[in-house]
Amino acid sequence: MWLYLKIFIIFNLFISLSFADIINIRFGEYKEKDRIVFDLTDKRKFRVFTLRDPDRLVIDIYGEKSIKNIKLPKNYKYRVGKHHWGIRVVIEQPFVISRIKSFSLPNPFRIVVDVYKSGIKKKQVPHNIIYDDADKKIVVVDAGHGGHDPGAIGFLGLKEKTVNLIIAKKVAERLERDGRFKVILTRKDDRFIPLHKRAQIALKNRADLFISIHADAAPKHRRAYARGTHIFAISSRAAYAKKRQIIRDRDYARLVFGTDIDSLPLRRILADIAIDVTMSESIMFSRILAREIAKNMGREVKWRGIKRAGFAVLKTPGIPSVLIEVGFITNPKEAVKLASPEFQDKFADALYKAIVKYFFGEEKYRKLARKE
Ligand SMILES: [Zn+2]
Repeated sequence: MWLYLKIFIIFNLFISLSFADIINIRFGEYKEKDRIVFDLTDKRKFRVFTLRDPDRLVIDIYGEKSIKNIKLPKNYKYRVGKHHWGIRVVIEQPFVISRIKSFSLPNPFRIVVDVYKSGIKKKQVPHNIIYDDADKKIVVVDAGHGGHDPGAIGFLGLKEKTVNLIIAKKVAERLERDGRFKVILTRKDDRFIPLHKRAQIALKNRADLFISIHADAAPKHRRAYARGTHIFAISSRAAYAKKRQIIRDRDYARLVFGTDIDSLPLRRILADIAIDVTMSESIMFSRILAREIAKNMGREVKWRGIKRAGFAVLKTPGIPSVLIEVGFITNPKEAVKLASPEFQDKFADALYKAIVKYFFGEEKYRKLARKE
């Protein structure tokens, strides 16, 4: 049960200008809320609040004498009380009130009360909805290395390219199952793909997010204790270099924007926007991801966004991109984890949750991530 039962009172104070005595009450039903609109002939002082046991919504309108039309649904129980100061409308909801929002609109003056239903969980994934391909978020999942490039060689000969591919596929599986994503894997098997090609796959598919999965190796003297997950986003220096490339190289600009842009000033403006998007969104996604991994797995996560120069795969103007070093393959304990399906599943779950939060999470959550 989604317990968000907050009782709060909103006082909206408006100066009562005149005494008209006719109002209408209209009703509109939306997916997450019911909207009740009070049409008034003039500006009124009003207040909206809720009471518990049973849950009811109270709307006091000062200076108002009567109500002309009430159009509320049949299952809405309500009563209107006349007082010396005005009228009080009490609505007993057929459901529990989870949250209300009220505001007024001018010309003609209206009081709007939005009642959010607790019956619908905000975070619920609507499984029964089939998403149009055009509405799907395009996520490119890149398994680092492959083919003749094994990546780091870990404890007992465990190869980074193998671990990367397994986790990438698990993430892809979860995203596919969700229905809201179109997933593109840069490689589905053990093959070599040059770095710039991987970034190109993201650009050509006009991806909404690019995730590159790797495992880290520590130098010999640090092998025993180097552990944890590291997340990288593009560095400002690398971003600046990309911006220059977009401005100077018309062919590259075509790849980035999907269309030829002849005008140099326009390329400058668009390059600015694209780089801004990549930097700020990559950082935001990194933070959401770091939190999900820490929360779901209790893993130590280091976010090293600005510190390191850009990896080739992170250079995707206009697309948020992160590179994740899942763990240290050279550390015996970590290598055992990286090779275990249980750990791989949990990691893929955390990644999937972060992606969902990033795209569909509440704005509040995104703002929080921005502030940290
Ligand atoms: Zn790697």
